[in-house]
Amino acid sequence: MTGGAGDFDDEGSVAERKMRFLYALRSRGVTDHRVLSAMERTDRGLFVRGVFADRAYEDMPLPIACGQTISQPSIVGLMTQALNVQPRDKVLEVGTGSGYQAAILSHLARRVYTVDRHRRLVREASDLFAALDLTNITAITSDGSFGLPDQAPFDRIIVTAAAEDPPSPLLAQLKTGGIMVLPVGQSDTVQSLIKVTRTESGFDYDELRPVRFVPLVEGLGTE
Ligand code: SAH
Repeated sequence: MTGGAGDFDDEGSVAERKMRFLYALRSRGVTDHRVLSAMERTDRGLFVRGVFADRAYEDMPLPIACGQTISQPSIVGLMTQALNVQPRDKVLEVGTGSGYQAAILSHLARRVYTVDRHRRLVREASDLFAALDLTNITAITSDGSFGLPDQAPFDRIIVTAAAEDPPSPLLAQLKTGGIMVLPVGQSDTVQSLIKVTRTESGFDYDELRPVRFVPLVEGLGTE
């Protein structure tokens, strides 16, 4: 190892960086073994392109195409953990982005549907899912605030863009006993990550932590 202590993070082999990556997840509260092992199997380096690829194993959000971001890995881990996915579950993700979160979910669930309003992101993520042989993911271009009525209801729903409130079509498409995890709040202020559980009689809401996500935008993108 050469260089000063300050650039330690930029050094070491890919294997060392991946080990530090998993250690950072654990130290930030991602302790569920199934989630950690799904994240260990999902190489974030494949989901980040261009100049930022070098930083894929750091715990930070990074820019992807269409002006969007791949979320911070520890937040991905905490959201996945809160979702408590079971092996028979059918999951909907709103906000495919790079496809990283969907790839992690594919190791935990029976079936994953992921939607994004940008065609280009859906196409690039689909190509990656095929290359990685993740055959239980279907990626679709659509406005996810309406959910995916054809495939509803879902056992789990995860939204990776922030709305002011949980979109009502998504609440309606959640099974009884189902869980939805999503950021809510205004896009340019602090948002809260919340967990919604559908009960026999209604919905329970838990506030998990402050977060910052790109906004949930209406309609399809131009790219
Ligand atoms: N989960 C992604 C990160 C997503 S960033 C990952 O693992 O990389 C949020 C994504 O939500 C962006 O790609 C954005 O295009 C998408 N998005 C925003 N509003 C949307 C909407 N109404 N419907 C579907 N996708 C939307």
